[in-house]
Amino acid sequence: MDLSKILTPGLKGVFYGRHSTHKQVMDTQLRSAYELVEKYDCTIIEKILDKGVSSRKKNREGFKSLISAAYSKEFDFVIIYSHSRIARIPEEHDTFRATMHILDIPIIESETESLYDFGDTIFRAIKDGVAKYELDKIRVNTKNAIQTLAEKGRWTGGRAPFGYKYTPKKMSGTEKVEIIDLEIELVKKVFDLYKNNNGFTSIANQMPPNSHRGKAWNKDRVKNIITNPFYAGYISIRRKYENKHNAIKDRLEWVMEKSSLIPAILSIEEWEYCWSMYINKKDRKVPPKHFKTAFLLTSLLKCQNCDNLLTGKDQRTTSNQGKIYGKRLYLCKKCNYKIDADDAHDTTLKVFKSYQGVETVKVITAVQENVEGEINNIRGNIEVLEASWKREKEKLQLCIIEIEKCFKEKDQKEAHIKILGITKERLLDKVHQFERIIEEKRTRIKFLVEVQKNQSLIEEQLRNFQTASLSQSQELRALFLYVFEEIIVNDAGHLHCKFRFNLDEAK
Ligand SMILES: [Zn+2]
Repeated sequence: MDLSKILTPGLKGVFYGRHSTHKQVMDTQLRSAYELVEKYDCTIIEKILDKGVSSRKKNREGFKSLISAAYSKEFDFVIIYSHSRIARIPEEHDTFRATMHILDIPIIESETESLYDFGDTIFRAIKDGVAKYELDKIRVNTKNAIQTLAEKGRWTGGRAPFGYKYTPKKMSGTEKVEIIDLEIELVKKVFDLYKNNNGFTSIANQMPPNSHRGKAWNKDRVKNIITNPFYAGYISIRRKYENKHNAIKDRLEWVMEKSSLIPAILSIEEWEYCWSMYINKKDRKVPPKHFKTAFLLTSLLKCQNCDNLLTGKDQRTTSNQGKIYGKRLYLCKKCNYKIDADDAHDTTLKVFKSYQGVETVKVITAVQENVEGEINNIRGNIEVLEASWKREKEKLQLCIIEIEKCFKEKDQKEAHIKILGITKERLLDKVHQFERIIEEKRTRIKFLVEVQKNQSLIEEQLRNFQTASLSQSQELRALFLYVFEEIIVNDAGHLHCKFRFNLDEAK
């Protein structure tokens, strides 16, 4: 690196380092520093050495005098041998760097003959009190380049996902992503099965043998398809953890952009719908086998006395002659209240059937009105959150101003700065927390608008609305879960079915 713009002839510097008991090591370091300085016709006016080995344990006289000399502008630059040798105490190290930065004193590293400048990014990060682990998150250049490509919806490298083929520009003049017909048919089948409430493993078992690029399907291969927005025409990065087996990151961390290169095979709304199914299953809002249960009212039926969900219990036994004894029940585990499962199913179906005559268009409108209500609620929440966020942000600004003032004062009180630093970290945490919650709420609104309110997706949910019967229990259960908020059962065994949306006006 050319240091001539920084080390102009005649400048005076200070060597700062940790003292080494190895004479040879010390000599090497000093020689390296002096030689570099001489090369640029500058001089070292002082050596400041702190005890090397037990640097954690006090005795930082050298460090203190370095800082105070810097404030009285006794030198123009600091020269160190290697930053790794002085970085043992992170707070001290940060103070060192921040102070020199504020005073415009360059730090030269002689080992690498380079400016030990942390660049604007890192400095800002220190100033903003971003913890060290967050600094690690600042990506190296190649990763930033990939992000820029992804943000523009451009190809970010690597092999195209199953169903597609990528040809780079140098091969054919223009870069292109093409559909592989045989594979894409399988992809469509995967999405269809998923929409019909099949799990990853179940889907893998329903695929033709060894049809995944010559290999057998498994749940990970199915998951890779369902969770990739590529099939809806979107380029994305940072979806997965590097070290965890096929685990997917929080959506807030993804970079995802529409790409004109990709011929999509489903709309983004359809994909979001599948994604929401995946998230619900993953977060255990929907336990596995949720739709398969023979107990149609599981997670819907509530005891009026205890406000407790009833659980299905099969008490039937079969005799040697094949005769069935006993019943299937729903049971409140708190008060031990029981209700006959078949009776409850019949009653609920009767209520449901009394609405089957309602025109689908009217049902859709009712669903959309309900979603609109939820959206308005969340908007109200966001307003409240934003007000709190603003208050914390103002406190943070004040704290930052205090810190800046402290750094500029000649005899800075370390304890004071430390307290302010901690305060700032806390405020920043709060601000980030609010931002995160607000972001989640916004994502939820986006999802409600694009998926839950989407007419064709509602139609898809309601496709069996007019025809469902007890014989198609899986479809009926999916519908029950979609239309009912809860079903409350009282002492007398009377069921009160609450719909998620108001169908009475439409009836
Ligand atoms: Zn109860």
